[in-house]
Parts: sequence; C-alpha cells; structure tokens
Amino acid sequence: MKLDTRAMRHLTAEDWKVLAAVEQGSKNHELVPVPIIERFSRLKGGSSLVSKCISTLAKTSLIAKMKEAKYDGYRLTYGGLDYLALHTHSQKKHIYSVGTRVGVGKESDIMLVADHTGAQQILKIHRLGRISFRTVKTNRDYLKKNASGSWMYLSTLAARKEYAFLSALHSAGIPVPTPIAHSRHTIVMSLVDAPPLRQISSVPDPAALYASLIELYLRLAKHGLIHGDYNEFNILIREDVSTNPETGTEEITLVPVVIDFPQMISMEHVNAEMYFDRDINCIKIFFERRFHFKPTTPGPFYKDVKKTVGRDGFQRLDATLEASGITKKMAKDLEAAIRQHEEEKLQNPEAFEPSDDEEDDDDEDEDEEDKEGEEANTDEKEKEEQPSIVIGFQSPSES
Ligand code: ADP
Ligand code: MG
Repeated sequence: MKLDTRAMRHLTAEDWKVLAAVEQGSKNHELVPVPIIERFSRLKGGSSLVSKCISTLAKTSLIAKMKEAKYDGYRLTYGGLDYLALHTHSQKKHIYSVGTRVGVGKESDIMLVADHTGAQQILKIHRLGRISFRTVKTNRDYLKKNASGSWMYLSTLAARKEYAFLSALHSAGIPVPTPIAHSRHTIVMSLVDAPPLRQISSVPDPAALYASLIELYLRLAKHGLIHGDYNEFNILIREDVSTNPETGTEEITLVPVVIDFPQMISMEHVNAEMYFDRDINCIKIFFERRFHFKPTTPGPFYKDVKKTVGRDGFQRLDATLEASGITKKMAKDLEAAIRQHEEEKLQNPEAFEPSDDEEDDDDEDEDEEDKEGEEANTDEKEKEEQPSIVIGFQSPSES
C-alpha cells in the first residue's frame, strides 16, 4: 500500500481519539468491539459521536470491518497505523511535511520528509508481513495461528530493532544515518546524500572501495554484530571531498554508509558463520560482476574475525536489543518473519522486485475486509505527482 496523507488534515480531534482507541483496543482484540472503542476514546459526545468518527475513519480506510465477524468491531489498517505514527512525529515536530517516495521496497516504504525548518529527512515505514499476507497461503495460516505474527506487531518490532541499532551504531561512530525519532512501525533518520552502491557503474579504485567495505564490515563484527543483508542496496557511497595539503588538489574519498538493520544478528548467533559468509560473498560477487575486481587474498573468515569481537576497545553492541526492551521471544518472532520473507523472495523473486506500478499492491488482506469507502483507492496518479504535503491537523492542541 502507498502512504496517502491527503486525508490527514481533514480529521478532527475526535477522529484522532477514536483512531487511537482502535489502536489501543488492538492490543487485546483482533477486531475491536465498538463498546471498547467508545470506552477508550473517552469522548463526551457519546456513542453517536463515536459512530460518526468510526464512519469517517472507515471511509478513509484507516480502520476496517471484517466480513463474517460475529460482532460489530473494527481493526486498524496499515493506513491507520501510518496516520497515528505521522501524527506523533508531527506533534513532536520531527515531521512537518511528507514528500515523495524514494525507496520502493516490498518490506518498507522510504519517504522524503521535511521538518519545521525545512530540513529534509528520511521516513522509513516498515511493512513486514505485507507480502506474506498476500501471496503465500502457508504463511497466511502461520500468521493466523500465531497472533504474535501479525503485521502490526512484526512491523513495529522491525522498526524498534532498527532504531535501537541505528542509535547504538551512530553513538559508536559507525557511518550510518543519524537517528531522529521512532514511532510504532516507523523511524525518522537523516537523509544520506549518497547513492546506493548498486547505482554506481564505475569507480577509479575498486580495490580501495572493496577494502573500505570489508573494513566497515569487520568494525561491525568487532562490535559483535553481523549485518545480515550487507549488499549493494544497503551500502550508500558518499563522496567526501578534501584538499590535499601538499599538492593543493581536490581529492575525493568514497565513504560507505551502511543502512537497513532489522535483520542484524550477534556474532554469537547459531547461524552467525553462514550469515557472515553470505554477506562477504555478496560483496565479492558484486565487485567481480560490476567492477571486474577480485581480491587477491581469500577471506575474511568468520573463525578469525570471531576472535576480534570486543577487542581494541570496541564496545559490544549485540546486547542492544535486550537493552532496548525487546525480549528474546520478540527477537525470535521477528527473525522467523524475516527468514520467511527471505525464503519467499527466493521462491518468488518477481513479487519482490520494486516496481513503479503497484496497482495490485493495495492493502493487506483486502479480501477479508468489508470496505466502507473507496475513496482511498482513487487517483493513483494524482498521489504520485503530489509534492510535499503538510500534515497539519484541524486541532493543533489535540494530543
Ligand atoms: P528495505 O528494508 O526496504 O531494504 P532500506 O532501509 O534498505 O529499506 O531502504 C531502501 C532504499 O531507500 C535504500 O536502498 C536507499 O536507496 C534508500 N534509503 C534508505 N534510507 C536512506 C537514508 N537515510 N538516506 C538516503 N537514502 C536512503
Ligand atoms: Mg534494504
């Protein structure tokens, strides 16, 4: 689904309260019964006001009914969760307007946003579980059986984990985007003005770039971490310009900046060696294909690198997750979902290819819900062409 912020400005303070009530109720109910929505929203206008808000939210596809439900209730949609997260970012003054989409992944949406000063930043919206719901029958069953496998839970967890690692790595001086804020399934971070390695067709010195990528990877390892998806999409190449003091000429250094951390694991993980080798191989294969560069020495090897964990004053960061309140069970659930995604990707790569035309990629599990309005699905073109949309609200005092 695409993020469509157009309806944000039209929601009233009461609509926001009811939306937040559906979110609150979702913690214990797959489908939140209307009386519970009424109780949690604490609106003075009573049930008629609540039902008016429910109707507005359902028309905008922020909440949805389910067909064949045994009682009158609603669940939050991805759109609803997007709005709540944006509402929080806006109130905390981390986001003022939402611009174009820069990354079109199937597991996330990457949006260009701006804060109140006009500074551009990146909003990453995690969408874990989206493909699984749509394409894979067995996975659908798995998610149904396992309430903790829901898209909201998994996407929120992915964002929490990514934000925790982003913050830890940033503090440790690893070149990553600067973390700015986190809400629900979204994170706000600095915009790195650099293309992904994937977009670079030639470099003056492939050996030097290769060496710097491996060096960065080994730095992560010394902190006790394996990236787990270290490839040409997740490494941005920044050009740092400096003047050589001896010759006075300008010199350009290519500096890798690493992104995308939901799948990061510890060097102590049972499958650490496999992921380590896979990451290193990914880089080797890319350099050979793209730059016809082959390193002269083999390795690096996991068993050697393992001995360097925590050495040379490197603080171990692999306990970051526990420190951020993510339990072992949560980490396991997230890992299972990410692995499942990887398998699906291998089996059905086309479904994961980023495409400009996502007509068929609307909302999760649509066949099960009883939409009360079609408005959110119209004007696909108009949405794409829209410049920055300010996400202010009718009632600025509303919290
Ligand atoms: P996914 O989990 O979907 O792979 P990523 O975090 O890897 O999401 O982001 C997808 C793409 O968006 C990246 O390949 C990169 O081009 C762009 N991107 C993500 N974060 C940033 C950032 N902070 N600055 C600039 N570009 C970014
Ligand atoms: Mg990525």
